[in-house]
Amino acid sequence: PHLKDTKVVSIPTRYPTGSEKQLIQVITGKQVPSRGLPIDIGVVSHNVGTTYAVARAIKHGEPLISRIVTVTGREVKNAGNFETLFGTPMHELLSFCGTERQAGEPFILGGPMMGYNLSGDHLPVTKTANCIIVGVDDGAKSSTPLPCIRCGECAVACPVSLLPQQLYWYSRAKDLDKASEYNLFDCIECGCCSYVCPSEIPLVHYFRFAKTEIMTQQQENAKADVARIRHENRLERLEQEQQEKELRQQQRKAALAATQAAKAKQAAESESSAEPTTTDSQETQ
Ligand code: SF4
Ligand code: SF4
Repeated sequence: PHLKDTKVVSIPTRYPTGSEKQLIQVITGKQVPSRGLPIDIGVVSHNVGTTYAVARAIKHGEPLISRIVTVTGREVKNAGNFETLFGTPMHELLSFCGTERQAGEPFILGGPMMGYNLSGDHLPVTKTANCIIVGVDDGAKSSTPLPCIRCGECAVACPVSLLPQQLYWYSRAKDLDKASEYNLFDCIECGCCSYVCPSEIPLVHYFRFAKTEIMTQQQENAKADVARIRHENRLERLEQEQQEKELRQQQRKAALAATQAAKAKQAAESESSAEPTTTDSQETQ
């Protein structure tokens, strides 16, 4: 009964429609704002794996310890989707699937367009390991890239309407402010621009690099801000402690002076009361 409001929608199979922001736009017609989140437009997006894991956690109290990993490629005999425990070494999964891969031969972790080329298969399967492809190129350009001819093909291919050639210039020149200005962080790293580029420039590699640089810079700035605030707070605390110390000294001095004045007064009074009244006795004789 709780599924009565569920609606199954069929959408055109066109890369990269599976990407979160594109999927939301295709289904709802709403666009997630630049540098924003789906929740900003009232949408929450979960893939099937997350939804299943949430249900298992809430209904059965199960932690997330495994995920479905697709293993495929021309060198895989038993390609398929396998529920794999986190931490399983990739070479075990690959040999379970009957891969004919040579030791050290690269494979792709992730999809054919967005995946990373890896050669070390002793890495563990993690929460983000959705797919392993053995025996295909990762789409990365192997030849030496040619200069950008400003043909604009990359901009035509970009599903989020960015200007990849501009982002490329700024990322390459490490002009990170400009790259941010050109909405680098809206890039979903789909790889379409690299794929269509006639100069075979690995554009998406530049964008990943620039994003990492910016994030590192932001983390360092944040750390520096924390250190500056801590230093300012310390100076303020020291100044306050000094002021309090001076105030206490003044109070002690004032108290001492008051005590001495009181003692002097008392001494003077007792001295005057102890003096004999000689004048009166002389007068009575
Ligand atoms: S597709 Fe390649 S060559 Fe053409 S403008 Fe973009 S980066 Fe330059
Ligand atoms: S990888 Fe290229 S095509 Fe894809 S979103 Fe980024 S800039 Fe656009």
